[in-house]
Amino acid sequence: MSSGTKYVYFFGGGKSDGDASMRNLLGGKGANLAEMSNIGLPVPAGFTITTELCTYFYDNDRTYPPELKQQVEDAMKQVEQTMGAEFGSQENPLLLSCRSGARESMPGMMDTVLNIGLNDTTVEVLSKKSGNPAFAWDSYRRFIQMYGDVVMEVRPEAKEEDGYELILDEAREKAGVEYDSQLSVDQLKEVVTKFKKLIRDKAGKDFPTDPMEQVWGAVGAVFQSWMNDRAIVYRRQYGIPHSWGTAVNVQAMVFGNLGDDCATGVGLTRDCSMGAPGFNGDYLINAQGEDVVAGIRTPKRIEKTLGEDMPEAYKQLCNIGETLEQHYKDVQDIEFTVQQGKVWMLQTRNAKRTGFAAVRIAVDLVNEGLIDKKTALTKKRIPADDLNQLLQPIFDPAAKNKAIEDGTYLATGINAGPGAATGIICFHAEDAEAIQAKDPNVQLILVRRETSPEDLRGMRIAKGILTAFGGASSHAALVSRQMGKTCIVGCSELEIDYHEGTLSVGDKVLKTGDWISIDGFTGEVFAGKVETKPSEIIEVLIHKTRKPEDAETFQRYSQLMEWVDEIRTMKVRANAEPDDAAKAVAFGAEGVGLCRTEHMFFSHLDEIREMILAEEVETRQKAINKLLPFQRQDFEILFKEMNGRPVTIRLLDPPLHEFLSEHHLHEQPDLAHKLADMVGAGKEFIYRRVEELKESNPMLGHRGCRLGIVYPEITAMQARAIMEAACHVQKAGIEVHPEIMIPLVGFKAELDNQTKVVREVAAEVLKEQGIEVAYTVGTMIEIPRAALRADEIAETAEFFSFGTNDLTQTTLGMSRDDYGGFIGFYQENDIIPNDPFQTVDQDGVGDLMKIGVERGRSTRSDLKIGICGEHGGDPASVIFCHKLGLNYVSCSPFRIPIARLAAAQAVLDS
Ligand code: PEP
Ligand code: MG
Repeated sequence: MSSGTKYVYFFGGGKSDGDASMRNLLGGKGANLAEMSNIGLPVPAGFTITTELCTYFYDNDRTYPPELKQQVEDAMKQVEQTMGAEFGSQENPLLLSCRSGARESMPGMMDTVLNIGLNDTTVEVLSKKSGNPAFAWDSYRRFIQMYGDVVMEVRPEAKEEDGYELILDEAREKAGVEYDSQLSVDQLKEVVTKFKKLIRDKAGKDFPTDPMEQVWGAVGAVFQSWMNDRAIVYRRQYGIPHSWGTAVNVQAMVFGNLGDDCATGVGLTRDCSMGAPGFNGDYLINAQGEDVVAGIRTPKRIEKTLGEDMPEAYKQLCNIGETLEQHYKDVQDIEFTVQQGKVWMLQTRNAKRTGFAAVRIAVDLVNEGLIDKKTALTKKRIPADDLNQLLQPIFDPAAKNKAIEDGTYLATGINAGPGAATGIICFHAEDAEAIQAKDPNVQLILVRRETSPEDLRGMRIAKGILTAFGGASSHAALVSRQMGKTCIVGCSELEIDYHEGTLSVGDKVLKTGDWISIDGFTGEVFAGKVETKPSEIIEVLIHKTRKPEDAETFQRYSQLMEWVDEIRTMKVRANAEPDDAAKAVAFGAEGVGLCRTEHMFFSHLDEIREMILAEEVETRQKAINKLLPFQRQDFEILFKEMNGRPVTIRLLDPPLHEFLSEHHLHEQPDLAHKLADMVGAGKEFIYRRVEELKESNPMLGHRGCRLGIVYPEITAMQARAIMEAACHVQKAGIEVHPEIMIPLVGFKAELDNQTKVVREVAAEVLKEQGIEVAYTVGTMIEIPRAALRADEIAETAEFFSFGTNDLTQTTLGMSRDDYGGFIGFYQENDIIPNDPFQTVDQDGVGDLMKIGVERGRSTRSDLKIGICGEHGGDPASVIFCHKLGLNYVSCSPFRIPIARLAAAQAVLDS
């Protein structure tokens, strides 16, 4: 029974059933083909089968609704009328392409079939009509190859050789030519015969000759490809829901392979590696679209030679580029075909770009008046995490010069993804995965002749990607740019032998596992390791080795961050100890959200161990007294560096075994002896004390405020150090805002106990020092009970800070130290979408946070609330914190720019 649902949308000839606003239904490609046709750009006619149909297909055992057939036939008639040709006709055959098109583009992840409608009869008609039999037969052999691979699944397994390519290799060799396009008609006919035989042998059935059967085969294969392995991996990586489905676009073919006045290409309206203005891209004369993207032949550059090769087409393209940027108000990534001098548009979409390009393009478009600041800062234009790329190291010029002098330079390819990467050579994605499984920190460079979407898993692991073939728009370039990976493509001097596991340039030979270095800014490749150095922004902000006026990237970054700060309402603080404070301020920290005091203890291990070993209050007090001056000095530095900004200092938190345990005694055989001497006891005493203090589950043991409650002298010493430091710094004329934070509170009584100790000591110190210092006492919310009883806890606490590391650990009952063993499997198998220790589990942990905020503020309406778990620097979590109404997020200094941008995006989102 027909549901009356419209599943098929026509486009072409200046009118369409859809438009750009319908991308959820028509997919990005379908919506933009419709839009381009509506605004009068030259688009070959076609139709889009909706994403709803894909959902239907998967919900109904991979079948179609009954009304689809009629709708496709009707749309096909419209295409025939618009193009003035007839599908399957023996006089004037229309040929079709069939392509995927999801809501978010997933470059190269799904399947495509071109030249549908060719068979032994229509190929002859095409041959006569075009007056170019070689073209007709080349199109036919491409069709059989693609259809055989995609629809009939006759394709090589993993490392097996490609049967089609073997037949082609043999034909080229026999003919003594370099390219397939140089094969004669008879040679192509022989290839066609061999392809058909290969398919019959492998698939056990004949290649279909009925054009309509071919269409349905292609449509089905494209819908099926939504669920192929690489598409699933891609969606997981970019958080695209599996439920969205893809649309399918069936479109009249235009030909870039009809002769030398034809071409195919992909272009960008601006450079998307570094963001420089100007139309650019890759093209191949006398070729079909897939040749460019697949990276089989290294294409020519549009901005360099197309103006000379095809002046008229070049002009059309530049005009189209301008129309598109003005219309879409963003950089476009287009696919086009030039058929006998005329440009046809096959696709447009917002271009993927590196973090460098994203920042430059956003700032330039605002300065050009095309968009406003708010638009420039949206998540779509600059994913907050991309800023990370601008902070990444580059090769140290001195080290690079030395590498050149040492003769380790190998070759130069196309600089497709900026950054500097050094790692060991790995040729296959599956090898990369195996190596990484053994060593998660391994630095790999994935080296390929060309990459195909199957390599995605390896690319994700690799620090950098290097290919011998392909252009700046090849699959490798596109995907690595998006992943923010250093990438060089089209490095044609490289000879890669997968079989031997070698890469050679002339007589220089490198093997699997050898070190190699690639410079994604310049395209240079070096054998061995090259030292890296900090990014321009780090040099200006942190090392101060470069002046802002000499640093273009820095200037754009800084303009962008000004806009970010105008928009955001949530503050951004740093998790910082004295050593990182200056860095944090340079990155824009508006305070310290978490100073982990225990980090300072690691440089005074003797004293802290003496404290731990003490059995009596008096001996403990003696050891603690030794720690006081060190702590006070550290806090003074911190207050000075933060220069009036609020500073949250957390009292001692970790289990004491982190400072002294059996493990330490085992690692350092003379430690027991040394400690025994220090405390004036025997070695047996040391072993006994360590044994007594041992816990089977220290993370849930005697840590956090439980330490301060049992040993109040520790809390008292820390409170004294903080308040004395505050008094000294304030006396020196620098404003101070200490916020003393009690960790791991679950019961109000715990907080009351510790607050009392802190306040008594603070009152004493202020009296001794004879001044007033405003300070507050608050707590971390990192135990579910604290979130649930936040109303009570807020009676005492003057501020809250969510410790989402522990809150995640305790809410999920998942050890933050041990979850690595299974989280990968969980993500691979869609048990949970994200790593909950990186992105807040909004439904669970997030719900507790919401309760904590509501209940806390029900007691104290102006309660200041922040977050200081690792999630404070994760864009999605930052946006969530904004929604909860937090006053600030706090994260590691390097993530501050990201958190600032995400906080602005949170405002733009709401
Ligand atoms: C937390 O638990 O989120 C937190 C910030 O504290 P730590 O990581 O030091 O336990
Ligand atoms: Mg904690």
